[in-house]
Amino acid sequence: MTLPETIVLASGNPGKLREMQAMLSLMDIEIQPQSRWDVPEAVEDGAGFIENALIKARHAAGHTGLPAIADDSGLVVPALDGEPGVQSARYAGEHGNDQANNLKLLEVMQDLQGAERAAFFQCVMVYARHEADPVPLIASGQWWGEIAPEPLGEGGFGYDPLFWLPGLSKTSAQLQAGEKNQVSHRGKAMRRLLAQLKLLDDG
Ligand code: IMP
Repeated sequence: MTLPETIVLASGNPGKLREMQAMLSLMDIEIQPQSRWDVPEAVEDGAGFIENALIKARHAAGHTGLPAIADDSGLVVPALDGEPGVQSARYAGEHGNDQANNLKLLEVMQDLQGAERAAFFQCVMVYARHEADPVPLIASGQWWGEIAPEPLGEGGFGYDPLFWLPGLSKTSAQLQAGEKNQVSHRGKAMRRLLAQLKLLDDG
């Protein structure tokens, strides 16, 4: 498939933008954040990650007249019935206050032990050719870990300092950016989306 010259990245989250731009630049794909067109924030009122990713991709494509890639993602703790889930960015109230969100999660989980601290990051990535695209491409990725008892590490964003990876004995905030993209929910979703765009092997 021939890609359009410019694709809009439907996110205002600087952490996500960094990760997605790094992955796409390796593929020589020209992608510009929606802030370049002053796209207002979309109203993310879907029940799940798929609905919200579709809302964001259609919104950005509608405002710019260009194809758009959107990521909707978050942290899911099964022992908390899926919280913070689609509320991940605003778990403690204020949108994008990572420190407050992390503090709230630690508080809510203070009595949970062992397997009850299992969690996964979920990412759904959508490619919409235009606002009314009847068949947007949808890919997803999951990444399992545990919620640490206290924050560790300076890298990444969001819940990364609390996302403990038992196999690596570090949190995701202690991974190099390139390392994180190789194993993360977002990296997996991105590779699956690129495979659907036929830029990678489907295998
Ligand atoms: P969204 O912008 O509505 O998709 O919200 C995503 C939120 O989920 C972020 O603000 C973070 O709180 C959390 N999140 C998603 N991906 C990651 C990640 O890779 N690391 C840490 N937190 C993440």
